[in-house]
Formats: sequence, structure tokens, C-alpha cells
Amino acid sequence: MKSILLVKIEPHQFRSRDTIAGDAALDFVNTVTGRDQSPRDWLDSYARLLEWAAFVQLLPKSALRALAKKAQKEPAAAAAALARAKVWREALFELVTRIILRRAPPKSALALLREHWITGIKAHELRFRDGRVLVGLRRDALNFDLIASVIAYRMVQQVFLLPMDRLRICHGTNCSWVFIDSSKAGRRRWCDMAVCGNTAKSRRFLARSRKRRSVRR
Ligand SMILES: [Zn+2]
Repeated sequence: MKSILLVKIEPHQFRSRDTIAGDAALDFVNTVTGRDQSPRDWLDSYARLLEWAAFVQLLPKSALRALAKKAQKEPAAAAAALARAKVWREALFELVTRIILRRAPPKSALALLREHWITGIKAHELRFRDGRVLVGLRRDALNFDLIASVIAYRMVQQVFLLPMDRLRICHGTNCSWVFIDSSKAGRRRWCDMAVCGNTAKSRRFLARSRKRRSVRR
């Protein structure tokens, strides 16, 4: 699924129905919707990327506020970071879809993941408190690429630990969202039953009733 399709960039207010993937790293992939038909990219600015990160609680609020301030002062650097985040997002989509197909991901996608993952590790620190070792973000890790690296960090430390045979791509048309199927039976086919599931059902119903009508005739 190479991107020969024209991607429309449009503003978007994130809602809870946009976070169905089971992990924020996968929800990030789904900030492009309709990759199979008419792709729409919901990240129209670096500020929107921050809005998304706030919505999925990817970073502490203080870090997001500091990044927003920094982006106002350095708009060109923020825009360049957004462009890098999108390259990373597409590599991640490629990586995930290959895993779904049980095929090896492109080396370039793995290399990019490794690069961001290492930066993500370096952005964390270990603290000892109340008898426990805690993992937290370093205060000096605030840079425009932090969101991309935290996503890679989550991908490796959390998503890859989940059963990979439960990684799915939505069966709906004009969707292509990816998600982890955590249902008991493991038969989830759609990102959201109320969205793609019902559309598919009504399409099937229409096809069936058309068939019935033609038989009667
Ligand atoms: Zn869907």
C-alpha cells in the first residue's frame, strides 16, 4: 500500500472514538485515516500534534506546555519536526502492516524505529523513591522530536510485548486503522463496530436485498 494516493491534510478535533488502537503508539498511526481510498491527515500543524499528544496523555502536561511555548518561538523548527514525525508515522504504518501480513518489515522502517527508540530511552531517567525504581521523563529531554521518540519507546517497550497475532487492520473501506484486538474471542474485524462495522453490515444487507429483488423479478 504505497502512498500514490493524494493525502488531504485537514484540521481535526480529537475525540475518544479516534483512540481505538489499544495503545497511543498505534493511535498515532491512525492520525491518517482512509489510507486505502481517500487518505486524510489530521496533523495539520505542530500545535495539532501537541493537541493529539495531550489527548492521548503521551507526555506530562508541563512538557506539552513547554513544547507549545517553544513552537511559538521557533515555528520553522517545529514544522520541520512535524515533517519528521510524519515520515516516522508512515514507516510505522508500513512496519505494522507487514507484521499483520507476517512479513518482515522494511529495514529502513526498523532502522528509523531503532533511531527514535534510542532517543526515547535517552529521554528517560531512573529515580529511586519509596523503595522503588521509577522511570520518568528527563527535564532536559524537551525537544520537538520528543513525541516521535516516546512513540518509538512505547512501540518497543509495550506494543511489541503484546501478542502480535492480535495486530489488525480494519476491514472497513476508507479506513485502514490499525489496532490490537484485545477481545476475548480475538475476532474483532473493525476499528469501531459503530463506524466501520455498521457500514459493512448495511452494505451487505443492501447487496442481499438487491439480490432477493432480482430473484423475485
Ligand atoms: Zn475502520
